[in-house]
Amino acid sequence: MLIVKKFGGTSVADAERIFNVANRLIEAYKEGHKIVVVLSAQGDTTDDLIEKANEINPNASKREMDMLLSTGEQQSVALMAMAIRKLGYPAISLNAYQCDIYSTSTYGNARIKNISTERISEELEKNNIVIITGFQGINRSGDITTLGRGGSDTSAVALAAVLNADLCEIYTDVDGVYTADPRVVKNAKKLSEISYDEMLELASLGAKVLHNRSVELAKKYNVNLVVRSSLTREEGTIVKEESNVEKMLVNGVAVDKDISRIAIVGLQDQPGIAFNVFSLLARNKISVDIILQSIGREDTKDISFTVATSDLKDALKVIEENKNRLKYEKLLHETKVAKVSIVGGGMATNSGVASTMFEALYDENINIRMISTSEIKISVLVGEDDAERAANAVHEKFRLDQINNTQNH
Ligand code: ADP
Ligand code: ASP
Ligand code: MG
Repeated sequence: MLIVKKFGGTSVADAERIFNVANRLIEAYKEGHKIVVVLSAQGDTTDDLIEKANEINPNASKREMDMLLSTGEQQSVALMAMAIRKLGYPAISLNAYQCDIYSTSTYGNARIKNISTERISEELEKNNIVIITGFQGINRSGDITTLGRGGSDTSAVALAAVLNADLCEIYTDVDGVYTADPRVVKNAKKLSEISYDEMLELASLGAKVLHNRSVELAKKYNVNLVVRSSLTREEGTIVKEESNVEKMLVNGVAVDKDISRIAIVGLQDQPGIAFNVFSLLARNKISVDIILQSIGREDTKDISFTVATSDLKDALKVIEENKNRLKYEKLLHETKVAKVSIVGGGMATNSGVASTMFEALYDENINIRMISTSEIKISVLVGEDDAERAANAVHEKFRLDQINNTQNH
């Protein structure tokens, strides 16, 4: 079998962890499998690099940030190759350049466009364990890009797709996908399987156990995807087209604290205003999430919306620069907010789910600031300090600790 195995930052945090992973890789190699490994930067390396950059220049260009951040992954792959060789097995490390991982040009949030498999196949033919940097891409100008925080999962799934791998295993510091972040909700339960669509919603709504684009790609190319622990031998969670499990009304809760709310107060109440605001943001590649428009005073209206906190600075800047054109009174923002969401494939056909969620929050005296719904999810914006209590309350209300998710073999 050809297996792509991805290990996250905690799984390769120090020498001991690196040897732990090296041994697991050798084990699979000895079983006769061809092994492609994708690694993240060690431990908190990426955060530390960001901090380092901020000390020098908090407004550093995104190009230079990518040049810097991509070094974390390069350290991991070289160290892993050294460890495997020390244990007496053949291995080679490659970066995005060496295995032609081409991406779009958006620094800091690039998308993989294509990967040429020539070099990787060559190294596999030579019986090497091939260790590839996650998170990196190369753009049209030949510069290094990164795929967004958590992007190594996407590198792994993209490689599994182009290599036609039999399996893509994402090894992390929890033993699978849970009904909620087990670090936030103590009663969260491990799911033995979950559908691509539900996983995609959870990931997009802040369950960072998988990078959302990795799930998108897995669905598109039908990649056999498993999330499991690098520290235990537990069976993980299978992410697949249709889950055998009875369609649950709600099967997951997600929390996203990395969002901020922007309010543009006192816009003119006339056609085209929302278009002006959001087309401006779109042109600057800023994605907007929950939107609320409300009536202000004397023919004015207010528009509030949420953005990823990493986009906040850019968003405020373009809105301020266009103040004359947009004609508003005030621009406000708030970072201490969080989005709490429930996801479930069975939600679309069931009324009353939203009110049950709101009741759970009311019982906890948690104020809801914004609401957004779709066929398979409901999200609310709450104060950041309320987020964990909200997640627990909602998890409890829908009895997710009692979810029946046994596998049908
Ligand atoms: P890695 O470094 O391996 O990529 P991440 O920190 O990116 O690991 O993702 C794993 C973390 O995701 C877990 O430690 C857990 O706290 C968090 N997480 C959030 N939501 C979930 C969920 N529904 N199931 C499992 N883990 C989750
Ligand atoms: N090292 C990158 C990050 O911390 C990518 C990853 O871990 O997936 O976001
Ligand atoms: Mg991750």
